[in-house]
Amino acid sequence: MFFMGVDIGSASSKCVIIKGIDEENESEILATAVIPSGTGTSGPRRAFEEALKSAGMSMTQISGIVATGYGRNTFSDASERISELSCHAKGAVWILPGVRAVIDIGGQDAKALSIGEDGKLKEFVMNDKCAAGTGRFLDVMARVLEMDVGMLAASDEKAEGIVPISSTCTVFAESEVISQLAKNAPVPDLIAGIHQSAAARAASLLKRIGATEPVLMTGGVALNAGVVRALKRASGLEIRTSPFSQTAGALGAALYAREKSG
Ligand code: ADP
Repeated sequence: MFFMGVDIGSASSKCVIIKGIDEENESEILATAVIPSGTGTSGPRRAFEEALKSAGMSMTQISGIVATGYGRNTFSDASERISELSCHAKGAVWILPGVRAVIDIGGQDAKALSIGEDGKLKEFVMNDKCAAGTGRFLDVMARVLEMDVGMLAASDEKAEGIVPISSTCTVFAESEVISQLAKNAPVPDLIAGIHQSAAARAASLLKRIGATEPVLMTGGVALNAGVVRALKRASGLEIRTSPFSQTAGALGAALYAREKSG
């Protein structure tokens, strides 16, 4: 039996196909797809088609589809819709059994989740009121620096110091970066400051839930090793990531689709 989870976010669309491998509810990941366009675009459909293609399957072989994420109500093929909080928690427990806290940083919000010993979501806090500390903040800064967001971490590694960014507001922080560039501040040090600023916001979310290890980072920003390093420093916690970090919500949705099928 095969199941699909589709996570429609603000910045990207993700799709995961799993196969149920035994009656104990163990599942194996068959395919994942990430399209960097989110809700309101062709992204969800493309992620869905790409995952089917990479698994070499057709839609008729899928026994259940659960949609999650900000745009979950727009996906008409889903049999059910489940919140991204529940799906990230479920995906995280599959990725890292025993996980006790999750920090999920996506395109437009950041969330910290605490997970009970039973693997269930216990408590969460989120920042969805402003772009500071989200993927959008990093995307804006990358644009000012004329870089792809995927290049920020490599440049941060070359930093010899940190140029701190004092404004938390993304618009003011962008002006600060521009004025530092005008003063010839070294770009790697500036990027280290940008990562430190994003990490400080995430660390405060982790603190608010009283996070304990093991901690898994999910969401697209987990691909930015510079933020992950800065978050380790800011929180004092070992922050784990996985090749499935960005697709953790879609994975959780697929696991729910299996669970709901009885
Ligand atoms: P959402 O679920 O809200 O649509 P994601 O969880 O996919 O968003 O996260 C999107 C963010 O992830 C982007 O805004 C970007 O900052 C970051 N990101 C995406 N791909 C990469 C990459 N290859 N390297 C570094 N950061 C990335």
